[in-house]
Amino acid sequence: MGLDVQLIVDWMKKTNEKMQENKPYLTTLDQPIGDGDHGINMARGFQEVENKVTKETYETPADVLKDVAMTLMSKVGGASGPLFGTAFLKLSTAVKGAETVSYEAFVNGIEQAVAGVKQRGKAEAGEKTMVDVWYPVSEALTEEQDFTAEVLSETAKQAMENTKDMLATKGRAAYFKDKSQGHIDPGSASSFYLFEALSDVLKERA
Ligand code: ADP
Ligand code: MG
Repeated sequence: MGLDVQLIVDWMKKTNEKMQENKPYLTTLDQPIGDGDHGINMARGFQEVENKVTKETYETPADVLKDVAMTLMSKVGGASGPLFGTAFLKLSTAVKGAETVSYEAFVNGIEQAVAGVKQRGKAEAGEKTMVDVWYPVSEALTEEQDFTAEVLSETAKQAMENTKDMLATKGRAAYFKDKSQGHIDPGSASSFYLFEALSDVLKERA
């Protein structure tokens, strides 16, 4: 199967639902190792995304993804807006032109997204950032032949949990040095919700 415009719109609606539901939790995660705004940032950003993508009509998934990117970049303050925005922009560019995004094209798009986030944030895997969910997800996707809802959500969940023991060396959390250990990275948690949302909509379609 492939991803069409409606599936991407549904993915964004489901992501928004999870960000609204988990807004207090994401904020709680950002308190000990940040400034406590991650839930607010994500809830605001994805509400704007939902408003935008449900209002427009689109010809291709890339057009939806581009609007997602632009909305996150312009409406979310903090480090996470431009970083999530970059991820969606790279994904959009990678799947440009196709009416239905094949599995192969999607995997390539996620790889491009990871590269974009790493470049923009100057972060590598293991530095306790959202890269620590996006990168393992991209690796797991390359092992599969087609969309597998369970692999997507389980890989993202395990990767998010793995950030707990990591020492932050990028972003605000790096200021907390050793004290950053023992807390899940907020951007990894929101990235998990994003991939879990995709997993949910894939299951609903199956
Ligand atoms: P801010 O840190 O500006 O308050 P948020 O709280 O919304 O922004 O987002 C914090 C999240 O952004 C972190 O948990 C981390 O996952 C991600 N992040 C921060 N800096 C970087 C970076 N340099 N590279 C990759 N991801 C980062
Ligand atoms: Mg913050």
